[in-house]
Amino acid sequence: LPPRDSDSAIRLTDSDAALARLSAVQKNYLEDPFIKHLVPRWHLQPARPPLINIGTFVRATAIDDLVFQWLQTSASHATRCQIVSLGAGSDTRFWRIATGAHKETLASYIELDFSEITTKKAMAIRKSEVLSAVLGNPSDVTLLHGGAGLDSPVYHLLPTDLRLPPADTLGKLLASEGSAILSPALPTLLLFECVLVYMTPTASSAILQWFLDYFSSAGSPALGSIVYEMFRLQDSFGRVMVENLKTRNVSLPGAEPYPDIDSLPGRFLNIGFKAARALTLKDIRKSYIPPEELERISQLELVDEIEELDLVLDHYAITWGIGAPQAATAAAWGQ
Ligand code: SAM
Repeated sequence: LPPRDSDSAIRLTDSDAALARLSAVQKNYLEDPFIKHLVPRWHLQPARPPLINIGTFVRATAIDDLVFQWLQTSASHATRCQIVSLGAGSDTRFWRIATGAHKETLASYIELDFSEITTKKAMAIRKSEVLSAVLGNPSDVTLLHGGAGLDSPVYHLLPTDLRLPPADTLGKLLASEGSAILSPALPTLLLFECVLVYMTPTASSAILQWFLDYFSSAGSPALGSIVYEMFRLQDSFGRVMVENLKTRNVSLPGAEPYPDIDSLPGRFLNIGFKAARALTLKDIRKSYIPPEELERISQLELVDEIEELDLVLDHYAITWGIGAPQAATAAAWGQ
């Protein structure tokens, strides 16, 4: 059935992301023992084409690397850190970190999405022993917001609409005096994986600004942010991408200010972040993925459309920036 409204069309993009990840895992591009527990009838889902699997691999590897470096930097300064994933959908990053080398470094991991998505995720977590076991003692895990939220010692899942004024949403959910689940005193990383493109530039700047203000008191810790997004949608291939999504009732207002790679860091720099950098997936694949990994994945599937691969990867980028003061700590991040 076609989606009834544009918000439900936006929510459906979560299934796309989860199925892409599942496919890349099943074809051995990525390792992730958790994703299948978040995809209904996972064993019946068809694999995605090689081009999508490669794109998923490049994106996931690059973002994992930036997140790992962030955790590593915190660990080397003997502080714990927080991660907030906005529009987290069915992402499994919390479970991968919480069972990995840096689990002790994570003070809290917060996921936000529409309540329809968080309700589904909370239910999937409750149903899966594998996912629940990572959250800690069952008596420390509670459902909130009528089942649309879930709270545990480190992991917090919360429903919201990110387009609403942040003071009313993020302010109330994360920073309520006396019961804030986001400490303004710890280094914090914001993740926006394929989400800001669905909202206006004004709405996404308001979110970034809210976090910047929250962490900008005297002595505030490092604030980092990673955005993964489609961009360059004004060129001929970009217009095809836009038209394809329009047939599914999805529009991309968030891509308008970003016609080229040089425009992307402006998302951070224009509102007062100290430093920012952007790379296309095409450049990341060519210059940053280790050659032995490229060699390994080249054996996995036959790819005929190598030129099309470059064209597609050239329309996706990762942008990362550093907000609040401790630039010294963060200066080397992702260099
Ligand atoms: N970040 C996840 C990933 O990379 O696998 C999911 C990406 S999915 C393409 C986009 C997600 O953003 C969906 O789960 C969608 O519901 C969420 N989203 C989009 N607009 C939103 C909004 N205004 N408020 C809350 N969530 C939103």
